Amino acid sequence: MKNKTGVLSLDFFKGCSSFHEDDQRPILDSMQEASKIDPGRLFVQVGIGDARSTVSLIRALNDLGLECTLLSIDSHPSAKFAWDALCSGLRGPCLPRFRETFSQTIDGHFSFYGPSWLMISGCPCYQCTRSHLKDWVHRVALDGFLLMNKANEGSEGVLIPSPYHREEGRVDVRCGVLRGAESAHRIRNEYEPWHSDECRMMKIWRRNR
Ligand SMILES: [Zn+2]
Repeated sequence: MKNKTGVLSLDFFKGCSSFHEDDQRPILDSMQEASKIDPGRLFVQVGIGDARSTVSLIRALNDLGLECTLLSIDSHPSAKFAWDALCSGLRGPCLPRFRETFSQTIDGHFSFYGPSWLMISGCPCYQCTRSHLKDWVHRVALDGFLLMNKANEGSEGVLIPSPYHREEGRVDVRCGVLRGAESAHRIRNEYEPWHSDECRMMKIWRRNR
């Protein structure tokens, strides 16, 4: 999907409301950089919701020609259904995979290579963000990337219903991502900002070597 000047177009993000327009190029840049790091080329998305963003990511990886695995992890019952319907049939250099939980990923391939690219795009509340970080942040490969969606959504707290907290009703989600990230000891000590000023909704960290 290259135009006349050989620059990759961003068409695969069309119709995907998950990623702000300004964030799409930095996402692609991080993917390309990440592909140089790890021969296993493991890309991970934690939290896929209705899987529309996952479709965009798979298309992007395919169009970049990156031979890799995109592992999607989401415990919500509707996520597997959405992934099966939208993602399982997508063909290209990128191999899509789905797991419901973190513990299901401890097998073969996934336990050997840490992800060189990890996007956390699950429930953006403080507790979920912290929990995802605790599970994943130390697994990111050296020089690898950590992307957090909805990190810059605003500093005012707001209560919204979340399908991930049905029993609790409404949860405070705004600013949960940044607060979760800032309170995670490892983030502050091991990650340097990268491209963060170019991102509207996304925060991108790169792990120090
Ligand atoms: Zn949550």
